[in-house]
Amino acid sequence: MLNIYDSIPDGLLQAEATELYALLGKPTLIHLSGENPQPLFICTLLHGNETTSFYAIRQLLNQYKEKNLPRSLSIFIGNVEAAASNVRRLDHQIDFNRTWPGTQHSSCAETDLMNTVTDIMRKRKPFASIDVHNNTGKNPYYGCVNLLNPHCLQLASSFSDITVYFTNPKGTQSSCFSDFCPAVVLECGQSGEPATIDFVARYLDTILNMTSLQATGSDSRLYHTIAIVKVPDIIDFGTDDSTELTLDSDLESQNFTRLKTDSLFARTRLDTLPFVINNESNENVTDEFFYLDGGDIRLRRDVILSMYTTRAEAIRQDCLCYFMEQINIA
Ligand SMILES: [Zn+2]
Repeated sequence: MLNIYDSIPDGLLQAEATELYALLGKPTLIHLSGENPQPLFICTLLHGNETTSFYAIRQLLNQYKEKNLPRSLSIFIGNVEAAASNVRRLDHQIDFNRTWPGTQHSSCAETDLMNTVTDIMRKRKPFASIDVHNNTGKNPYYGCVNLLNPHCLQLASSFSDITVYFTNPKGTQSSCFSDFCPAVVLECGQSGEPATIDFVARYLDTILNMTSLQATGSDSRLYHTIAIVKVPDIIDFGTDDSTELTLDSDLESQNFTRLKTDSLFARTRLDTLPFVINNESNENVTDEFFYLDGGDIRLRRDVILSMYTTRAEAIRQDCLCYFMEQINIA
C-alpha cells in the first residue's frame, strides 16, 4: 500500500511526474534527516495532474544534494498511478484529498493509506505541513487554512497575500494535519508553469529554514469559503447553447472578484436550477444564491468566486466553483 524510504529513491530526481508510477509503483513516504530533527511535511500529487509541487520538491532536493538539510523533511508522494495518466484521479479511485481522517467516505484502500501516513507523521510531530495543488481555472496564487490560528496564517501569508479559510470539503490532508501541526494548502494556479515551480521551491526553502513560526502582522486578504457549487451528474452542460446548462467561460477570469447581485451566472433550458449549492454544514442552499429569470440563472446576492472552471473533468470530479466572502480578523 505504501513505500517508506529513509533516503531519496534512485532516479527520483531525474523522473518526470508521469514516470513515478513506473519508478515507485505505489504511494511513497520519504523521510530525510536534517539538522533540526523536527520534520517539515510536504505532500505532493494528491491529485495526479497537479505537478507543480513534485517539480518544486525535485528542485529543492537538488539544491541540497551537496549539503545538509537545515531541517528534516518528510515527503508524501500520493497518487502516482493517476499521475502516470496525467489525471486528477482514476475512475476506480477515491479522491486522495478527501480520504484523510475526518473523511465522510467509508473505509476503503484510500482511507487506509491516509490513516497510515497520518499515524506515522503524528508521531513525528511535524514543524508544519504543506500540501501543494494546482487549479484548472485561472486563479491567483493563494494559501488555504482550516484553522485561523497565527501559525497556520503565517504559513499561508508567507506564500501569498490571499488566504482562504475553509472547513468543507471534509477529509482533506490539511484539515486532518491541522489537528497536530500548523498546516496549509498552497493553490498555485495552473500546472506546468516553470515560474510557479521556482516560486514554490523558494517558498518551501524559506519554510525549511525557519526556526519558528511567528505571527506576523500581515495585510493579507482573508476569504472564507461559504458554499460549494456542483453540477448534478444527470445534467448535461457545456459552453454553447446546445446543452441543458450553458456555462460562461468568461467567468474563469473572474476568480477572486466580486460578482454583484442580479448578475448573469449561466443559462439553462430547464425550468429548475441545474446546480446543487451546499453550505459549510452541507445544507442545500441553492435558492439562497440563484434565481431563474426565463432561461437566465442570476445571483440573488453578491459572491466572490474561486476555482471556477468550465473544464468538464474538473467539474465532474470536483465542482464548478466555490463561493466566498471576505472576512476580517483583528
Ligand atoms: Zn488538487
